[in-house]
Amino acid sequence: MSFLAEAKSDAIRLITSTQTKEQLQSITAYQDAGRLAQAESLSLLLLERARSQGNDIDAAAAFHELGHILILQNKYELSRQAFHNALEIFTGEGLLKPIAVILADIGNTYRFQSEYNQALNFHYRALSLYKTEKNRQGIADQQLNIGIVLKELGQFEPALDFLKRALTQLRRQKRLESVSQTLSHIGGIYVDMAQYESALTYMKDALAISEETLSRYRIGKNHYRLGNVYLKLAQYELATVHLKEALAIFSELDAPRDHGSVLTVLGQVEIAQGNTEKGFQHLNQALTRANEDAFPKLKSEAQLALAKAYLTLQQLDKALTHAMRGVEQTGKRQQLSMQAKFLQVIVDIYVAQQNFEKAFKTLLQKNQIISEIVSQNSTMTVAQMQSEIEVERQAQSIEMLRKNKAIELARAEQTNLRTTFALGSLIGTLLFIFLLWSRYHQKRVNLYLKKEVRKRTQELVHKNNELEEAYHTLEEVSLRDRLTGLYNRHYLEAQLPGEIQRSQHTFATATPQEPVRDADLLCFLFDIDNFKKINDDYGHMAGDQFLIQFTEVIHDVFRQTDLLTRWGGEEFLVICRQANRDEVCMLAERFRAAVHEKLFYLNDETHIRASCSIGFCTLPLFVNSPYRVNWQKTFLIMDYCLYAAKASGKNCWIGAISATDEKITEEARSPLAKKFELTSVKLATSLNNLASINWPD
Ligand code: GH3
Ligand code: MG
Ligand code: MG
Repeated sequence: MSFLAEAKSDAIRLITSTQTKEQLQSITAYQDAGRLAQAESLSLLLLERARSQGNDIDAAAAFHELGHILILQNKYELSRQAFHNALEIFTGEGLLKPIAVILADIGNTYRFQSEYNQALNFHYRALSLYKTEKNRQGIADQQLNIGIVLKELGQFEPALDFLKRALTQLRRQKRLESVSQTLSHIGGIYVDMAQYESALTYMKDALAISEETLSRYRIGKNHYRLGNVYLKLAQYELATVHLKEALAIFSELDAPRDHGSVLTVLGQVEIAQGNTEKGFQHLNQALTRANEDAFPKLKSEAQLALAKAYLTLQQLDKALTHAMRGVEQTGKRQQLSMQAKFLQVIVDIYVAQQNFEKAFKTLLQKNQIISEIVSQNSTMTVAQMQSEIEVERQAQSIEMLRKNKAIELARAEQTNLRTTFALGSLIGTLLFIFLLWSRYHQKRVNLYLKKEVRKRTQELVHKNNELEEAYHTLEEVSLRDRLTGLYNRHYLEAQLPGEIQRSQHTFATATPQEPVRDADLLCFLFDIDNFKKINDDYGHMAGDQFLIQFTEVIHDVFRQTDLLTRWGGEEFLVICRQANRDEVCMLAERFRAAVHEKLFYLNDETHIRASCSIGFCTLPLFVNSPYRVNWQKTFLIMDYCLYAAKASGKNCWIGAISATDEKITEEARSPLAKKFELTSVKLATSLNNLASINWPD
């Protein structure tokens, strides 16, 4: 029996005719078994018969059933219409308890459509009537509903408070289905607070208890929530088992919104396991469903999952598109906490793009929203307190009036219970006392809230400072140069030792039968000639444009797999991996020529020609003794070659191809070999011959 049905049997079923009671029982049974078509036709039959017999109450009961069937099919507008029809009849009859049942039902339809303030309003009104009636079951139900709505509004503490109160009552009343529902929502709060282990215990209990009941819907919900927690805990197999179970139940019940929510989680599980295509299929299906059927919460859920999935796959543009749409949609609907989640994804995307400035700006925007939530929550808490007080007050006044004025009262409720003010002078006195008390209470609440908000604001400021610092550090340790997008020195220095070891190892383990092939590292150092003059003549911005276009030449000449780095200002270092030193001169010349031939555009009107000088070396320098000279020393040799190229007239290259212990005469030994205390170094240059090189001291 569904928890809604439990309340029904008390209030509505009891007042129907005997024949109808039996029919209602069958309708409920069909609903629980997920046979909604049968339930629906039976309700329509009941409605027709009640109408032809002029039995309004039976007709209202039929409307009420129809409302529930429509809820299960996620058709909330229609179901609300059915409930309003029932409400009209019950208020006409002045039946307070059935009115309360219907008010709560209407509240639920609003909740399912994410219209939480409306939902709260109806649940509080129902609560007020139940209190008047001293109906423990009804009170517990409304505590549960209010707890759920408060949770959705992100007010975890009051939500937990309501849910725990409901739980105590429901346990006492031995109402298993509602107990299960409460446990699963408490678990949901722990999920939102990222306390997954605690969440798991509540969710497991919830499922076990729901399995004792006959409600397929509740069981489906619990499988879905459990699947979600297992996803968070990265236990994908268990997650899949529960989600598939939920999927089967919701397709059997024909509940598209719930079905879509399950798909969203299942898609994430598939992607987490590397089944990308399948995962995206699920997520896109959920998004389409949400768009077609206008389920705003589902829509943001699917959108968020898609953005995160693309982020994980490093498809940053797509991730950004979904996240931006999410921000816009949630902004329109004032779903602030969801909007904050989208902004966080955007922060992560910008960080992945190493765009720290935008990341930081977005982060500030997100924090702004979080402080908005904090302050909104506090005004909401005030509003909520007021509603609660109002409820107490109404309960009180209703109590006094109900003996002889039940019918008028009920009619008044249809528009709004507040109109009951008009009903007696007694209320005047009561109202006066209430106002005095509530003002006093309000003052205390406001004081407390002010303190609380101040505390949270300070926390946020502190956090912002910390984050700002963290981002600056991040920028320092970032691996790419901002202007050119090339790797920077940090990256190279982290990458180089591994590359060198690999190469050295290959050379060390080579045999005459299996000589080394393509294991050389070719290192080139480029320095733009007379770059300072470009800056001086055309300005720093033009200089930047030049550097960007210089980078294009690097990309044109070298391979994707080569390590391309900006070594410093206008110096660039390229390392070709798994290469052959026979090709080093050809590459150096190709690059020199490419730079020399390129037209560099400094702005729309100005273009110039330029040149660069090149020093190179290879690693390992000693082929037969790969560990002899370390990379730092080899780089010094390369640097010296570059220096010599500058001194020899620029726009040229000089490099060291290899070194050996071959004995040569002192005259034949190059200044470079002497400087680095090497016996013999094989050099190469684009100048006419080695004798043309002007070696600096
Ligand atoms: P040489 O031919 O001897 O290499 O002379 P040069 O002018 O190229 O070399 P020098 O080292 O004297 O000057 C390099 C200039 O590069 C100085 C510095 O202001 C400029 N520079 C360094 N980084 C950047 C940058 O990111 N953007 C711009 N526009 N200029 C830069
Ligand atoms: Mg320089
Ligand atoms: Mg230079």
